[in-house]
Amino acid sequence: MMIIMKTEATEVDLAGAIAMVENNGLRAHIVRGAERNVIGVVGDIRQIDPAVITLMPGVDNVTRISRPYKLASREFQKENTVFNVNGVKVGSDEILIIAGPCSVESREQLLETAQAVREAGAHALRGGAFKPRTSPYAFQGMGESGLEILAEARELTGMPIVTEVMAPDQVEMVAKYADVLQIGARNMQNFNLLHAVGKTQRAVLLKRGMAATVEDLLMAAEYVISNGNRRIMLCERGIRTFETSTRNTTDINAVPVLKSQTHLPVFLDPSHSTGKWEYVLPIARAAVAGGADGLIIEVHPHPEQATSDGAQSLKPEKFAEMVRQVRAIAEAMGRTVPQHEVAL
Ligand code: PEP
Ligand code: MN
Repeated sequence: MMIIMKTEATEVDLAGAIAMVENNGLRAHIVRGAERNVIGVVGDIRQIDPAVITLMPGVDNVTRISRPYKLASREFQKENTVFNVNGVKVGSDEILIIAGPCSVESREQLLETAQAVREAGAHALRGGAFKPRTSPYAFQGMGESGLEILAEARELTGMPIVTEVMAPDQVEMVAKYADVLQIGARNMQNFNLLHAVGKTQRAVLLKRGMAATVEDLLMAAEYVISNGNRRIMLCERGIRTFETSTRNTTDINAVPVLKSQTHLPVFLDPSHSTGKWEYVLPIARAAVAGGADGLIIEVHPHPEQATSDGAQSLKPEKFAEMVRQVRAIAEAMGRTVPQHEVAL
């Protein structure tokens, strides 16, 4: 339910409406608009009567949100959510490019990749220290020592760090190092994990599960927002279909569908959605043409030596070419891919 305040409502009126919500055991989420404020009410709303709320001072009207996700919906918030991650803007007209290796493998590998992607124009650095591998015998990641290397790369390049957190009891430790907490496809419906990242104020990159609908993804985002964290980037990373020529099938439709249904920024990961480096560039172009707010790309200086996802990793030169092409598409659409003001 949404309580829409009048344009002339005072702070006292707003506080009164919030108190009424909380006194009924419900939670109030406030969106401050340019013209008027809106209160999103979540919880079991059957106990309050919209007709009575409408009588409160400063309240204009009360409407129900028709979607099962409430706070994540465009119905609740019309304007795009825009936020900052270490000075990097997310969700605006500026398209954000996150790049780096699938896994942190060594200090040398990560620092070399970080410098290369920064020079090619990336705005944030990715790298997994805790890896969700299909096989228990595959490389599982460097753990906390990988996070330390990521933090060193941030010092060196100024780029914020995006890294996966796999379990609720890791959230505190990963949040100590990371600027963006990645929730992987396999964990999209790990509700305890969603609660735990929702309680932090770290930005969250929430990847779509490989058999999840767009609505499932938005319900997962709702878990994070309803715990108080609104700094969420949604990420299409390919879904499982009968097609076997690529690792997954890029659901390009998800980009405009998400843009119409939610105010949250929408990213696309063409590395995992295709599984093959030669398809990454065309699908990155398609994502930006389709209205995505950002990309997350796997890059490795020596893909043949990668401990994970080498086949889908771009070499730095190819990544630089991708940034050039994507920039041209962004500009054709009245958007930008910001350039770094200073070289490293
Ligand atoms: C990754 O980003 O390396 C990863 C494991 O992604 P996903 O969760 O989308 O498979
Ligand atoms: Mn990967």
